[in-house]
Amino acid sequence: MPFEPPRTLSPSKVAAFGACALSFRFTAVERLPEAATPWTLKGTLVHTALERLVWDHPPGERSSATALAEVDRAVDELRANGAFDELGLDPGAHAAFVDDARRLVANARRLEDPDMLDVVGVELLLEATIGGVRVRGILDRLDRAEDGSLVVVDYKTGRAPAPAFERARLAGVHLYALLCEVVLGERPSEVRLLHLREPTVIVSRPTEPVLRAHERRTRAVWDAVNRACRTGDFRPRPSGLCGSCQFRTYCPAHGGDPSLAAVALGSRRAEAGAA
Ligand code: SF4
Repeated sequence: MPFEPPRTLSPSKVAAFGACALSFRFTAVERLPEAATPWTLKGTLVHTALERLVWDHPPGERSSATALAEVDRAVDELRANGAFDELGLDPGAHAAFVDDARRLVANARRLEDPDMLDVVGVELLLEATIGGVRVRGILDRLDRAEDGSLVVVDYKTGRAPAPAFERARLAGVHLYALLCEVVLGERPSEVRLLHLREPTVIVSRPTEPVLRAHERRTRAVWDAVNRACRTGDFRPRPSGLCGSCQFRTYCPAHGGDPSLAAVALGSRRAEAGAA
């Protein structure tokens, strides 16, 4: 059965297709709704607090107390809009959740001094054609380094990868660097992954050969996505990710039938078309 391909690719979609084509079909092609998880909600909370710390407060006023106040503000907002309801955390688990978010935000200070940052923007939406593919991405943060060059910064709330997997993690931020080059006309001098849990920083310089390789890879992924949409052949790729996959029930690698997922879960794409 053929599928309508997505309109754009993003760094996370490129990574998702490489990790498991069938999971990509469920999330990016059929756009099936995904339930909130403690990990995704904590990521949202920590990103919000850190981005507000450096965007809503000028240098000199980005203290630890301000950072923790931003965590509390974001928690209040998430609670008010019902984001915690779906998780069903008991009071003890909720307190542990918030404590962990506060720890991650405090750890950011061990990686960089927020008062020293020259922030160009946060949550920056950039879209451009790269290698003939429409690519769209939201940068967590874009800074100016002391020498005036741009630096792409990405916050990570999960575990840092083993050294052998660092390159895969950097692929996404290199695509952000490509977007900056095309949209802003300036190639960033650095991309920085701030892993808040350890905490540790992975830094890479987006050189010409590295960026051209990512451009070719993006084109290759786009061609593979379109081929899979034409043929309907999205292969499952069982891995450690299956344990947290929300579509496992519908995955043939685990005895399921993928054709039942859209009917059972409802497709956001169908809803968008009906609206
Ligand atoms: S259960 Fe595993 S193999 Fe199946 S769709 Fe999810 S990630 Fe892919």
